[in-house]
Amino acid sequence: MAPSLTSAPQSRSFVYALVGNPNCGKSTLFNALTGLKQKVGNYPGVTVEKKIGTVYSQHGTAMSVIDLPGSYSLASRSPDEAVTRDVLLGRRPDTPAPDRILCVVDATSLERSLYLVHQILDLGRPMILIVNMMDLTFQNGLQIDIELLKQTLGIPVIATEATKGKGLIELKLAMSRLDLPLSKHAWSIPQEISSAVAQLQASLTADSQKLYLTARAEALLLLTDQAPVHVEGSKAIHPRTAEILSSWQKRWEQEGVDWAAVLIQSRYDAISKLSAKVINESETGPSLTDRIDYVVTHPVWGWLVLGISMVLIFLSIFSLAEYPMNWIDSHVTLLGNWVKGSLNPGDLRDLITDGAIAGVGSVLVFLPQILILFFFIGLLESTGYMARAAFIMDRLMNRVGLNGRSFIPMLSSYACAIPGIMSTRTIEDEKDRLITILVAPLMSCSARLPVYLLMMAALVPSDRVPLFTKATLMVLMYTLGTAGAFGFAWLFKKTLLKGSQPKMIMELPPYHLPHLKQILFQMIERAWIFLRNAGSVILTISIVLWFLSAFPKAHDGASAQEQLSQSFAGRTGHLLEPIIKPIGFDWRIGIGLISSFAAREVFVSSTAVVFSVNNNTTHAQTTPLRLALRDAHWPDGRMLFTPLVCLCLMIYYVFAMQCMSTVAVVRRETNSWKWPLFQIAYMTGTAWIITFLVYQVGTLFGF
Ligand code: GDP
Repeated sequence: MAPSLTSAPQSRSFVYALVGNPNCGKSTLFNALTGLKQKVGNYPGVTVEKKIGTVYSQHGTAMSVIDLPGSYSLASRSPDEAVTRDVLLGRRPDTPAPDRILCVVDATSLERSLYLVHQILDLGRPMILIVNMMDLTFQNGLQIDIELLKQTLGIPVIATEATKGKGLIELKLAMSRLDLPLSKHAWSIPQEISSAVAQLQASLTADSQKLYLTARAEALLLLTDQAPVHVEGSKAIHPRTAEILSSWQKRWEQEGVDWAAVLIQSRYDAISKLSAKVINESETGPSLTDRIDYVVTHPVWGWLVLGISMVLIFLSIFSLAEYPMNWIDSHVTLLGNWVKGSLNPGDLRDLITDGAIAGVGSVLVFLPQILILFFFIGLLESTGYMARAAFIMDRLMNRVGLNGRSFIPMLSSYACAIPGIMSTRTIEDEKDRLITILVAPLMSCSARLPVYLLMMAALVPSDRVPLFTKATLMVLMYTLGTAGAFGFAWLFKKTLLKGSQPKMIMELPPYHLPHLKQILFQMIERAWIFLRNAGSVILTISIVLWFLSAFPKAHDGASAQEQLSQSFAGRTGHLLEPIIKPIGFDWRIGIGLISSFAAREVFVSSTAVVFSVNNNTTHAQTTPLRLALRDAHWPDGRMLFTPLVCLCLMIYYVFAMQCMSTVAVVRRETNSWKWPLFQIAYMTGTAWIITFLVYQVGTLFGF
């Protein structure tokens, strides 16, 4: 019996890949389509997020949508783009090649987006073209003939406004069609290279049993993408195909044929013909986007706008976060006291309160700042201003060999290196991204603030410290860190991670009104990643540290100081003393240094324990601690915390890599232990050397 023609495809569910340029509204569309039915993970071997969601058709049939990272072209320049390319070409064994493709374009930059569309049409798979942001075409003086686009390409073309959910019903209807037509897409491949394309296509088809058309698309990519990014987990091309490719390339080199340019040009010709046909641009003078850009990318006004925005953002991070931070701080203390009151005294109780609660509390305290920072980053990104900020920063960053994209990660690191490092994913060049990750923790983060404040309090003997002195010292510390970050970036670019001078290939997307729901969604997503990663590390370390300072037990009736001195932590402090004595620190400061690996501000609370101050002192109440520090002496009676030593401690904290959470995030983002270990070594090494010089020279001059 002949199989039924309709029942077979109906019973299987389609797998759609969602592709598009960055900022075209792809995530908004993905969320609108799939709602909460999403699974977020990572592609094995790479730090690229993998999102899969389920969409239901009008009839309740489930379809999967794989949200691929935003790309401008299939010729990938970053790991994110490489994953998009590899999934579409069926090169990733961990992800099935999609049956069908949803390609999203931003209507206000249709012509630019057609490059990716054109490459994807080459793949020869059923595809739906989604023209999003239709609401913005009018104010940009554009008219797009959707009907003509549909006829010319021969595929469904759906106009949408993702933020309002307009066009989604039509889209779902098209997605559940069993008979999605293949495109009539055809463009003539230039004569000079057509036989090479045919040979490569045949070889690729034979190797991997690919669809014949997909193999052609891959052949075209091999010819145009001259420095392809390879990511772990993707299949490399077969040696036979590589051989055919290189023999053609040799031949063309001899004949003087620039094969890539020829191919790219012929693609552009096809695209401009298409866009001339369907886009109607009215001559209404400069668009709103052009007029705003005139100011914000202006060589003078641009800097002013950027400067004011950054000052406002940081002021609000510090001031807005204060209230929730105090709230969290006091509730953590309350919780600790409550547990203390309700459990019998003993090691278990101390482990829970002094180890777990205090440790995790110290991370939670930073959550408000992180949320606020991500809110502003989301706002800047979503309106389109971020691209402008990177654009004007580009020249400055170029001096040290980085490009404008490193600006936001470095800036974010003033609040905390963790979100900063997490935001390096937007940097396309792998080496530049790595350099940015390596230097980002040198920017003074907010966890150093309590340490600086404590040292400043101890440093200046009078209670009435002129605000100006404080501010100057603070600015000095921030400047030192920033100069260090730029200096090392320059050094790494010259030596370790030599790369080409970065080119700024940057798009300035049209401005949009921010979409708050989307921003909040991203904020929560990032906050969760932060809590999960940093939280688990800190919890472990806090517990370990607590053990190290509570055991072995001293004799009954021993003071807290005696207990500490002979605990594992104390012994380690003593062991460390020969190394840190040349920079002016004793074993007790050594314990502070070690314990602040959990988080820098832990230095304050552990210093409080070490110098026998009331155990419950939090960093909000530094007055008694400050006095206790002035009473601390070396065994020979010299004062321990001289102004010079206080200064040295601050300088040490500027440079030293003192943060386990950062180490964990760097390990995650670089996918290896090599770079976080290198980072610990170079930063802490630099910290020691600079502090040594300052201390020795200072001592020489009698400070
Ligand atoms: P992605 O980078 O492609 O994932 O883009 P997003 O989904 O993050 O969208 C970028 C910005 O465009 C966000 O601020 C969205 O709110 C906004 N956006 C998305 N779709 C539309 C639309 O149809 N109309 C308008 N006006 N804005 C949109």
